[in-house]
Amino acid sequence: ATPTSIMVGTGRAAELGILFRKGEALQSLREATVVALDKTGTLTKGRPELTDFIIADGFDADRVLALVASLESLSEHPIAEAIVSAAKAKGVGLATVTNFEAKPGFGVRGTVDGSDILVGADRALHLHKIDVSTFAREAEQLGDNGKSPLYAAIDGRLAAIIAVSDPIKETTPQAIKALHNLGLKVAMITGDNRRTAEAIARQLGIDEVIAEVLPEGKVEAIKRLRHDNRMVAFIGDGINDAPALTEADVGLAVGTGTDIAIESADVVLMSGDLNGVPKAIALSKATILNIK
Ligand code: ADP
Ligand code: MG
Repeated sequence: ATPTSIMVGTGRAAELGILFRKGEALQSLREATVVALDKTGTLTKGRPELTDFIIADGFDADRVLALVASLESLSEHPIAEAIVSAAKAKGVGLATVTNFEAKPGFGVRGTVDGSDILVGADRALHLHKIDVSTFAREAEQLGDNGKSPLYAAIDGRLAAIIAVSDPIKETTPQAIKALHNLGLKVAMITGDNRRTAEAIARQLGIDEVIAEVLPEGKVEAIKRLRHDNRMVAFIGDGINDAPALTEADVGLAVGTGTDIAIESADVVLMSGDLNGVPKAIALSKATILNIK
């Protein structure tokens, strides 16, 4: 494309709320054959709510919730916020936490009221040799309903299965359809549970799912999607999306995301609305055609 057509293209994009931080992106975006999206905060609102709290035999629900919420009050993860606000809404008082540890992609651990509390994904419990199979059926059912199952253990014993649900943005289904109409494959990359991710992907008509990805694994996921010379555009919002935004052939950040994601992206969507992605791709195609 000529410098003039790029200027016109980036100007038109800006009017649509799409900021091309790099001029080359306006040319390379049209080559994308796969659009990969982060789930939490990109496809979804990123504001999960606590939906289920199922207690194991021999445990007291209010006490487990108090211990779990106390621990989570020290975490900045959106899941933690969901648990803490649910506990507060129930009038549960929070206790002091010592020895707090957060393991990204796994969960949190600490001492509350003299007990060792662990909350996180199944892999966090496996790491501590805690068997979660008592809740296998619940976990499957929660996952199939698009809810994310978590587990709580107290002093090494499984105490509860907890689920959070993060609503899909109202604008997301239309954006996925528009990407399909442009002939693109759509993929999801997430740290969340496989069943949960697959249920959400099914609901949205997403073609490929890479789930249970550790925070440092998103770059590898982009590389995997690149098979057969496919060109991958990636859209994300989080701190742990930054390396994948750099790795992707074109990285797009949602404007509601973290500064690090925005700084790592070639293109920034001014709002959280993913319809900016097909619009940016269509514009990229139009810009090239202009000069031919
Ligand atoms: P995502 O935000 O895509 O779910 P993360 O890498 O942040 O990805 O987390 C992966 C998983 O680790 C979460 O889905 C959850 O199961 C677990 N996890 C992480 N942090 C916490 C936390 N503070 N409390 C409970 N579970 C957590
Ligand atoms: Mg995210």
